[in-house]
Amino acid sequence: MNAAPDFRHQRERLAELLGSRGIRDAAVLDAIRRVPRHEFVRKNLWGQAYRDYALPLSSGQTISQPWIVARMSELARLEPSQRVLEIGTGSGYQTAVLALLTRWVFSLERIGELARSANRRLRSMGFDNIKIQTFDGTIGWSEMAPYDRIVVTAGAPGVPQPLLDQLGEGGRLVIPEGDLESQVLVCYERQPDGSFQREEHGAVAFVPLVGRHGWMPEGE
Ligand code: SAH
Repeated sequence: MNAAPDFRHQRERLAELLGSRGIRDAAVLDAIRRVPRHEFVRKNLWGQAYRDYALPLSSGQTISQPWIVARMSELARLEPSQRVLEIGTGSGYQTAVLALLTRWVFSLERIGELARSANRRLRSMGFDNIKIQTFDGTIGWSEMAPYDRIVVTAGAPGVPQPLLDQLGEGGRLVIPEGDLESQVLVCYERQPDGSFQREEHGAVAFVPLVGRHGWMPEGE
């Protein structure tokens, strides 16, 4: 992850901005300082890569706003030796941030082209603790379960039951829940008796989670 010094400076400023916008977790801000976000977008967008907004990817998807990536990572309350499942790899930017914060990141993306380019990009940056697969993440990834944390980076009509089922003891799941236009960021935490504590954390806007336990694909 050797970026040009100019980008390093821009990342430092982005981390300061996110701090001023309420991100408190020092490890998360440090990960924002380290991941070269410009490498996750097309070259003609490099000049905007360290602004705090979402940018377009191919296939009509978006790379999430840095504040949202930081906020979800903070709400996940990661510890160093955990196993995290991410639904919605997209560019792989959030995947990289998570991979700096914990031991293993398993990430699912429904669009093969995005999954393949994220995988290539993350390998070339030297990440060796990330596994990406292409399939409908609303059914989870049962072979690798249970997970300590699950982070869903697309907006869902409600939390997919298979994801709750794949969350280990004391596990936390972060997901945007709502309609197609706007959602609320929700955290679920598995209690010792197997029930879930649910907390809401403010309004957000994500592209839709499309799948068996999400929104129906267009035309079906
Ligand atoms: N964190 C990513 C966000 C990408 S946008 C980034 O910053 O780049 C959300 C992604 O979720 C899109 O790439 C979309 O294709 C993917 N997605 C939507 N529904 C999905 C599903 N059921 N399973 C896996 N990925 C899904």
